[in-house]
Amino acid sequence: MLNQPVTAIKGIGEEKANELESLRIYTIKDLLEYFPYRYEDYRLKDLADTKHDERVTIVGKVHSEPSLRYFGKKKSRLTVRVLTGRYLITATFFNRPYAKKQLTLGSEITLTGKWDQHRMTITVSDYKSGPYERKQQYEPVYSVAGNITVKGLKRMILLAMQQYGQYIEEILPERFILKYKLISRKEAVKRLHFPVDFEDAKQARRRMIYEELLLFQLKMQALRKGNRENKQGVKQQFELAEIKSFIKDLPFPLTKAQQRVVNEILTDMTSPYRMNRLLQGDVGSGKTVVAAICLYAAIKSGFQGALMVPTEILAEQHYESLQQLLNPFDINLSLLTSSIKGKKRRELLALLEKGEIDLLIGTHALIQDEVNFRKLGLVITDEQHRFGVEQRRVLREKGEQPDVLFMTATPIPRTMAISLFGDMDVSTIDELPAGRKPIETYWAKHDMLERVLHFIDKELQKGRQAYVICPLIEESEKLDLQNAIDVHATLQQFFTSYRVGLMHGRLHSAEKDEVMSAFSRNDIQILVSTTVVEVGVNVPNATMMVIYDAERFGLSQLHQLRGRVGRGSEQSYCILLADPKSETGKERMRIMTETNDGFVLSQKDLELRGPGDFFGYKQSGMPEFKIADLVHDYRALEVARQDAAELIASTAFWQENQYVYLRHYLENEGILEGEKLD
Ligand code: ADP
Ligand code: MG
Repeated sequence: MLNQPVTAIKGIGEEKANELESLRIYTIKDLLEYFPYRYEDYRLKDLADTKHDERVTIVGKVHSEPSLRYFGKKKSRLTVRVLTGRYLITATFFNRPYAKKQLTLGSEITLTGKWDQHRMTITVSDYKSGPYERKQQYEPVYSVAGNITVKGLKRMILLAMQQYGQYIEEILPERFILKYKLISRKEAVKRLHFPVDFEDAKQARRRMIYEELLLFQLKMQALRKGNRENKQGVKQQFELAEIKSFIKDLPFPLTKAQQRVVNEILTDMTSPYRMNRLLQGDVGSGKTVVAAICLYAAIKSGFQGALMVPTEILAEQHYESLQQLLNPFDINLSLLTSSIKGKKRRELLALLEKGEIDLLIGTHALIQDEVNFRKLGLVITDEQHRFGVEQRRVLREKGEQPDVLFMTATPIPRTMAISLFGDMDVSTIDELPAGRKPIETYWAKHDMLERVLHFIDKELQKGRQAYVICPLIEESEKLDLQNAIDVHATLQQFFTSYRVGLMHGRLHSAEKDEVMSAFSRNDIQILVSTTVVEVGVNVPNATMMVIYDAERFGLSQLHQLRGRVGRGSEQSYCILLADPKSETGKERMRIMTETNDGFVLSQKDLELRGPGDFFGYKQSGMPEFKIADLVHDYRALEVARQDAAELIASTAFWQENQYVYLRHYLENEGILEGEKLD
């Protein structure tokens, strides 16, 4: 019933339906489950009970003549002193010159806005003359896009609720509803959209958050159970002496941490169970060589290996560094990227299927259907947080139950780890190779650009190279590109005696390759780039990293970018060009200048930005939640995880009627086969 298109609702036609698509709302269910992201609280409040930066509604008396200033034609600021309770505050109205009339000395006024405790100021978002209490004191706020307004959306949700609300069915087993005193699904959906008061919305949120997290955890745990039950994982057997001599021949001794994780991984590989392990280690901690050792071991056991990375540039770089490490040992490596086409591609795939290629390196092109290994034993993914749960599953299903190792330079706080990886085993490289100098990081405002350029120049004169990362403008590759082109032109004018290269996502991979290798050879001294160089790239002579508009990046991403320098023995520098407006923005810049520790940064990042943004941007493998929030709802997550684990392990879950909706859900997600239901 609820899976019908929104046009089934009386009052919503094709045109409205098209508009709703921009919010990814297609069915009645989508519309009903498009929840508000916050509520505007119009209850009257005392400033004494209000925290800094909180929204508040107050009643007060106008205590001064209002003053109005214009900036240009359209912009204006109106300020007035207001006495409320014991507080004499300033109320600021932006671009509402007409409000002035109502602010007569001594009159009463109701103001809603954000409270700045330090400046004793309210920035007004809504006002009414006189003391005023709204009927709906607690009003949902939705995020909208395109032609849709919040008001229009609310109307459509009301229509959906009136005509189809009765068809919302319970999906949680009664047991849990009783245990946690949850309200019904129907009631929760209704109250989320039309709460009478704060408590109403709170109960509704509580119920839906639990549901969402339980479903998510069920999915994760069902996947994991499937993996475990495939006991015929590969058991790899190699001569330990051979591995030891490989390690001895490396250009450097392994750090203690590298040795430890190599042992952990090799032990897993020799067991008959399927390895499902996460390897985390800060940027520059030397994960690539660990990967090489493990791949070598797999190949020596008679299996093939695969290394999967998020970008083609990185694939090419890994290909080169692994070639250097593995070629002396008579191992056949190949690179598979989207630019390898036609006959060449067919030949490569045929060789792979015959088992004549030992190790295949590439992007997620590696998990396409047409790619068949003869005897895949080990799959390693680098920077794996960019791969979603689904991709990881497809990957695991390739070949004969290969062992899987996920590598990441973004340390993952525990709440994240639970939700992203369930109870995956984790190895951690918590030590950098000896002799690394910490990167010195500075924060400069954009108007100091000139000085920054002179600083770069000094490094270049010493024979070093520099990366310049361009502003990232969300969602628009085109604008990103324009920015990079502009910056490139500016730098070329300034650095007349050096070569300035340009790298961006629109280049073909052959072109990228050319730019990158020119930079590696020091034919180019300054590389202007969009974030495509973010992960993994290794040019030790580059000692300078300049990041434009650094406030647009998250801490983890800045740390990744910064990790491109400091790879040799020379002192390296990172300069963050940023004029952050918000306090958190400034805080982020400060933290960057204070620490080089990726673990500290990732925890801070999570606290400052919340999990949605945590992993950077759109390609992140983070599940998207409609209502739950992994930072604030971590307790609910823990409860849901335990409940899900218990359910999946019980026979009742697979048989009893009260769980039919949950099983159904797993079927729809493609995790359960239909026949398993009986
Ligand atoms: P990441 O963990 O960021 O992927 P890499 O594997 O790219 O780091 O290693 C960074 C650099 O450190 C490379 O140039 C690599 O050769 C070097 N390296 C790795 N392990 C060691 C070690 N034990 N001693 C010295 N240098 C090392
Ligand atoms: Mg790496």
